Amino acid sequence: MQVWKFGGTSVGKPERMKSIRDLVTADPGRKIVVLSALSGSTNALLEIGSALKEGDTSRANQLIDELRAHYSAFVDDLFETPKGLDRGQQIISTEFNVIANLATYQPFTIKQDKELVAEGEILSTQLFTAYMMEKGDSVTLIHALDFMKIDEDGEPVFDEIEGGLKKILEEKATAQIIVTQGFICRNPEGNIDNLKRGGSDYTASLLGGAITAEEIQIWTDIDGMHNNDPRVVKRTFPVRNLTFEEAAELAYFGAKILHPSTITPAKLRGVPVRLKNTMEPSAVGTLISANTSAGTEITAIAAKDNITAIYIHSTRMLNAYGFLKKVFDIFEKYKTPVDMITTSEVSVAVTIDNSEHLESISAELSQFAELEEHDRNQTIICVVGQFFADKSGIAIRILEALRDIPVRMISYGASEHNVSILVDTKHKNMALEALNEGLFTFED
Ligand code: ADP
Ligand code: ASP
Ligand code: MG
Repeated sequence: MQVWKFGGTSVGKPERMKSIRDLVTADPGRKIVVLSALSGSTNALLEIGSALKEGDTSRANQLIDELRAHYSAFVDDLFETPKGLDRGQQIISTEFNVIANLATYQPFTIKQDKELVAEGEILSTQLFTAYMMEKGDSVTLIHALDFMKIDEDGEPVFDEIEGGLKKILEEKATAQIIVTQGFICRNPEGNIDNLKRGGSDYTASLLGGAITAEEIQIWTDIDGMHNNDPRVVKRTFPVRNLTFEEAAELAYFGAKILHPSTITPAKLRGVPVRLKNTMEPSAVGTLISANTSAGTEITAIAAKDNITAIYIHSTRMLNAYGFLKKVFDIFEKYKTPVDMITTSEVSVAVTIDNSEHLESISAELSQFAELEEHDRNQTIICVVGQFFADKSGIAIRILEALRDIPVRMISYGASEHNVSILVDTKHKNMALEALNEGLFTFED
């Protein structure tokens, strides 16, 4: 069995939804189909949520009406029979009643906000399943809220997901195509929650890992993982093969095509991940697996924004060997992951992307260290490839490409797959272009 995931743009228009139905039925294998919300819906629902949090009910209701009209037109174009149209309008009516009811809550809390944003995936999967039924396909909808669980840190509980999914598949999901929602899940309180923005990729990988699928396919609007961010850099090209390690680094360090955690469950169970283009299904895409690297030294580059750099100087009060432990205990206490670290005899610099607890962290660090002013608005640029320890010349190529860019930190040697460079975000685009031109060769 395979798991295929279609992102927002792949289901965002009625004709796109029709073409993914053609894709999933043209392939003979049984599969789980994970869907995102229609493109723009998650943002629209979040905007409605913000209006409600601010108590602006009239704006919220206006936005709800607009969204409903959008779905109504979508249904009119998607379904082809009176019965199908009826079913489509019925789905909209039920789900927009849920939305309207949520909009009456005062105060409008995070619980309602999460329920509201979940409606995007609930709507898209119901409409797609109804459309497949209209076409007479063998299809069942299973509900992610019945088996997708996260713990108190927002991390998926893989064992429970695996057990829950397998039970549902054995007991009731005998159809050829099993549709489910990406992104949404339940938290330890049993309330509706989600896997954070872009989380449908993660759902697909968790499900693929849980059933040890033959393959996980992530269908999106581009022909695979490119060697650099195509939104920023002019000349990028798709990378045909990546190892799990390379892909995990790229996803974690900002390649938007994959949610940062997507690769973990697939790698755990050795399930290959293929990235495919819905707009061009015959294009090769990218295959991510245990041993299919591109074979080149430098494979690709990604960038992660909103980074804060913290500079910590040891005071004499502490022995050098206890210093790093004390520093990292504080980050652990505030559950704040550290991405980059550089050290000197008396100082350590670290970067974080979650600055929610920065004030408390700084206050505690200040009890035994001196802090310089933090650098906010930084970007980590991550160069990924096969940098074996006995190879020479890679660092010079990277630094040579960046000769005109002020570099704040460099992290090299922690893994054989990643060199990380910290720059001020205002230099990011220039740095990505410079690395692109300096590290890759182009035919023209
Ligand atoms: P979906 O809605 O299908 O999940 P996303 O918008 O989340 O799609 O991801 C696809 C987008 O990721 C592409 O359109 C592209 O602009 C962006 N992207 C950023 N970095 C890369 C990269 N290295 N390779 C391919 N796409 C990338
Ligand atoms: N719909 C969610 C989002 O927009 C999840 C996803 O698309 O993967 O973030
Ligand atoms: Mg995405």
